[in-house]
Amino acid sequence: MIRTLEIDSSWSLFLDRDGVINRRIPDDYVKNPEDFEFLPGVEEAIAFLAEKFRYIVVVTNQQGIGRGLMTTSQLEAVHRKMMDDLQEVGGRIDKVYFSPDLKNSKSFTRKPAVGMGLRARKELTGLRFRDSIMVGDTGSDMLFGKRLGMTTVLITQDIYEIRKCSELADFSFPDLISFARALFMRNGSGE
Ligand SMILES: [Mg+2]
Repeated sequence: MIRTLEIDSSWSLFLDRDGVINRRIPDDYVKNPEDFEFLPGVEEAIAFLAEKFRYIVVVTNQQGIGRGLMTTSQLEAVHRKMMDDLQEVGGRIDKVYFSPDLKNSKSFTRKPAVGMGLRARKELTGLRFRDSIMVGDTGSDMLFGKRLGMTTVLITQDIYEIRKCSELADFSFPDLISFARALFMRNGSGE
């Protein structure tokens, strides 16, 4: 049973990037702006969500940097393109945090570790985890959100992933636009 999600304009939204905003590249990384492909409906979804949330924050693991397969400035170019494209359609991302660390590095920033969340709270005035939603496509994202006391939303079309995350995910939707629609339905159209 889905628990009702009551949010207001003081809430913040944390988004994972790969598999939520843009298409994942199997066994590779999005190294250049031209490799960045929005998933269907995402630009529209973020434009809607931008009206609803105080902050929209991207938190993304990018160990391609740690592995030497891409540079920080390449990643920044990708994020600039992502933010520019979203801005063009009325969307907004307030801040992007990334962790360049390797999977087995005992990183404090790589999800499911909470470093990127703590940094966001420090830098964004008024951001509160209990009034935040973490949206991601893996159990690691859900654990990150739960460790910080956020509401968690799993974006996947994989029934096995849903089952695997059933303890950690408060809600599940097939894609970001379905999540955005559900929020607007539950809270009225705002008119
Ligand atoms: Mg992901």
